[in-house]
Order: sequence, then C-alpha cells, then structure tokens
Amino acid sequence: MTLTQKATLIIASTMLFTIFSGLLARELILNPHLKKIENAADLRDVDRFEQAVDRYRDNLQHRIERIFSAANLLQGIEGQLDWSPVLMQLAHIGGYGELDYFILSDITGENRIVRAGEIAEKSRRLPSNSTQQEILRTAIAQLDKSNKFSASGLMLSKNDGPLVYAAGRASWTTDKLPSIYIAVRRIDDTMIASLGERLGLVVNAISHDASIQQRKHYQIGLGQRSKDDTLYSLLKNDAGDVIIHLCFKTAPRAFDDKIFSPTIVAALVIAILSWAVVIVLMKRAVIYPIENLAQTMRRIRQSSNYQQKLNYKHNDELGKLVDEYNELLEHVANHTSKLEAYSYKDALTGIGNRRLFQERLDYLWKLASRRQLCLSAIVFDLDYFKQYNDRYGHDGGDHVLRQFSGLLKKRFTRETDVVARTGGEEFIVLLFDVSKANALKLANRLVGDLRLLAIPHEASPQSGVVSVSAGVASFTPIKDNSPDELIRKADEALYKAKAAGRDQVFISADSHA
Ligand code: GH3
Ligand code: MG
Ligand code: MG
Repeated sequence: MTLTQKATLIIASTMLFTIFSGLLARELILNPHLKKIENAADLRDVDRFEQAVDRYRDNLQHRIERIFSAANLLQGIEGQLDWSPVLMQLAHIGGYGELDYFILSDITGENRIVRAGEIAEKSRRLPSNSTQQEILRTAIAQLDKSNKFSASGLMLSKNDGPLVYAAGRASWTTDKLPSIYIAVRRIDDTMIASLGERLGLVVNAISHDASIQQRKHYQIGLGQRSKDDTLYSLLKNDAGDVIIHLCFKTAPRAFDDKIFSPTIVAALVIAILSWAVVIVLMKRAVIYPIENLAQTMRRIRQSSNYQQKLNYKHNDELGKLVDEYNELLEHVANHTSKLEAYSYKDALTGIGNRRLFQERLDYLWKLASRRQLCLSAIVFDLDYFKQYNDRYGHDGGDHVLRQFSGLLKKRFTRETDVVARTGGEEFIVLLFDVSKANALKLANRLVGDLRLLAIPHEASPQSGVVSVSAGVASFTPIKDNSPDELIRKADEALYKAKAAGRDQVFISADSHA
C-alpha cells in the first residue's frame, strides 16, 4: 500500500469516525438538549396563551364590577329613568364592542339579552333561550360557590360551544334594575386568532376528534411538537372539563434532526473538499519528492555511479534523510574507488596486476583495431630467479621484484602504457601505437637498465648480477589474430631469448611492421 493510499485511508476513516461520532453526539447530547429548550419555549407559549385567556376572563369580571359601580349610582334616581337606554349604556360601559352579548336577569327570572354588538357590531349571533338558561345556571352556581358578588369562568355550552363569561349579582333597592349580569364571549376562531395575534402566536381551535387523530398520526402527546412543528393543547374549565382543543403552529425547528440535513451535507462536502486539498498538497509536498528520490536511487544502483547525489533542498525531515543518504553515497563512492584501486594493483610492487593487464589488453586491442594502429607487448622474466631466492631468501627476492618494477615505472610513463606483474617474476608491458622497432628498443633499454643496477647474484650461472630476458611481439589487429595470440607470440620470443642465453630481448618473427 502506498503512502498516499495509507494517508487517504487514515483520512477517510478519521472522517467517517468524526461524522459518526458527530451524528451520535448530536443525536444523543445536542438534539435532546435543544429539544428540551425548544419544548420549554413551546410550553411557555401555550402557557402564555392560557394566561391571556385568564386575563380576558378577569377583564370581563372587572367590567361587570364596573357596571355594578355605575348602576349603584343610578339606583338613587331610578324613578326618573327610562329603563332601556340605561341598560344599553351599562352594556356600553361593560362591553367595549368585544362581547357577544349580555344576559340580564332579574328576580322574576325574566331574561333580557343586550347585544353588545348593538353598539359595536350587529352581526353577532344571539343565544337561544335554552342557551341563556344553561349559561345562567352555570354562572349562578359559580356565584354561589365563590360567595362573591362577581365571578368568571370558562364553560362548554351544549348549544353555543365554548364560552368565557363573567357574572355579577346585585341586590338593588329598586326592582327596575336586573340583579344578574352576565357578559359572554364565545371562544371561537376570531377570538382565538386575535388573542394569538397579540401574543405573536398562530393558534387555531380544532375539534376533539381532529386533535386526537392528528396527535395519533404524529405519535405525539399534548405539549409535544410534531414533525410539522405543530403543538397540541387544550383549555379546561374550573371543573377540569375540556372545553376546547387548540393547535399552535410554531416556528420551524431551530436545529437539525435529520441524518442528511443541508447543514450536515454542506459540512460533509466542505470536509471532503478540504481533505482532498490536503491529500493533493501532501502528494506534492511529500509523495512526489519521495518518488523522485526513489527513482534517482534506482538510477544510482543500476549505474553503480555513486558520485551522483540526491537532490532535495529543504530543511525538513526528508531533507535530513536525504543529507544522510548523500553522506552514505559519498562514503560508498570513496570505499568503492579504494576497493577498485586495490583490485587492479599488485600488492608487492604497487604496479598493475594480471586483472588490470587483461582488461587493458582487451581495451587497447579494440582501440588499435578500430584505428588500425600497432599494439606491442613486452614480456619480461627475471633470469635464474629461483636461484636468487635460494641464495638471498624470499625477502631478498621481493626486494629485487620491487626494484625491477621501479625500473619499469620509470621507463614506461605514457598514459597509454600498461605495466603489470602477471606472475611470480614475470612482467608484461603493453605499448599502444608503438612500432615493433621502438618496442624492441625500449625492451633492450630495460634489460640494460637492470644490468646497470648491478644487483649481485652470486648464484647466477651466467653472470654475477641479476638479469632479465624479454620477448616482444607487435600486432596491428586484423581478422585473423587476437590479443591472446599477441601475448603468446611475445612469450615464444621470451622463450627463445631464454634459450639463447638470457639477459637479452627477442622479437617474434610474426610481428607486424
Ligand atoms: P629462468 O631463468 O629460466 O627464468 O629461471 P627461474 O629460476 O627464474 O625460473 P622459474 O620460473 O623456475 O622460477 C621462478 C622463481 O621465482 C620461483 C620462485 O622462487 C620465484 N618467485 C616467484 N614469485 C615470487 C615472489 O613473489 N617473490 C619472490 N621472492 N620470489 C618469487
Ligand atoms: Mg618465470
Ligand atoms: Mg625466471
């Protein structure tokens, strides 16, 4: 799995975990909390509405009380009064145009209805006789119970629906004024709407059956908000009987409670986009540099060119790693070049070894072949060296080998000259673009150089000093010859030099001009 895939997987699982735990926290902690707050606010609204109805009821009672105060003043001048306009006036005092009607009843039990609308609005429906009796009964019972001269309440009239009423009972000295005054207002849609409007609420009266059916549909109880943000409540009279069912249309829910609400979807999209940006940035900042570095490393490995360096110029963690790696590369390069140098050197004399000789021979042969130039080989072999060792010891022999290679190094200094110790006391020199005549001359000089050194060799059957024999061969590469043949021919010439008495140079007759 690549780093990008890993990072993407980590990010994706972190995102999933965050979303899941966020939803869980919202579902288990935030939403219940918000629901509680919202529910309390909803109940407060219902409460405010009920209080407004109560205030309306109290208000009616105060109006009745004001009527009585006014009537009290009037009873002293009763003889001079026309009864009907007075009652109208009283109704005016108490009604203010908001009432549906007054019921005025005297001791004889005869009722008079004063339509408040006669002053304000005439279209209001008047109650039937049986309704009047029903209201009168309830109001008097309420007065008897409260033991006061005024009382108010809510009731459900069989004929006239839910009502709010206020009643007052007076005992006048005159019998021309009615003794019972009842102000009535139907709790209908207009009243509920106007009360709601004043409170800033949208409230409607609904039937008992509709309330039950809708709450069943939404699976909610009274005082609970439905999915459609509707709240159900009811009004009861003093005896606890339900007189009207209400439904409140509330403001939409202020918090998300759907799994994929617009807020969550927007948050998700933003999160996914921002993480996509993170992945792209990470790829550019980390992954691409790593891939580039890996490519460079592969090139270095394949070419074994440890001189190359990784290129990453940032002072970050990757930068430190690259610095360390570059150090390591330098170390490997030094080490390798040292090892390489050792692998081509003869340990005793410090000149080239057989490996160097073989590689250079192949290379120079190809070069000479291409340019059709001459390649010469001189094979040297110290004379009677076994005897030298026997006489002067191995260390003495080694010393002579070092002395002889010193001569070779001194004499063959061209860049293309190859000087190598190929065996115990055998040396080969390769000369590029050197004719057989010159090669022969150089070989003779070397033989002379050693003679001049005059290293004593008492065990030599020939002379008292160490000498060397040499064989020369010069080829311009053609189809039929080969580098091996060049060396073989030089060896043959050496053999002849040995046979001819040593301390001399022979050249192969097969050498080219
Ligand atoms: P010739 O004149 O025919 O070449 O006689 P030679 O004794 O030189 O010939 P041979 O090849 O029989 O002996 C080579 C000797 O070189 C044998 C060995 O003692 C000696 N030799 C080979 N390698 C080393 C070396 O590394 N150090 C020393 N000191 N002697 C070596
Ligand atoms: Mg030998
Ligand atoms: Mg020898």
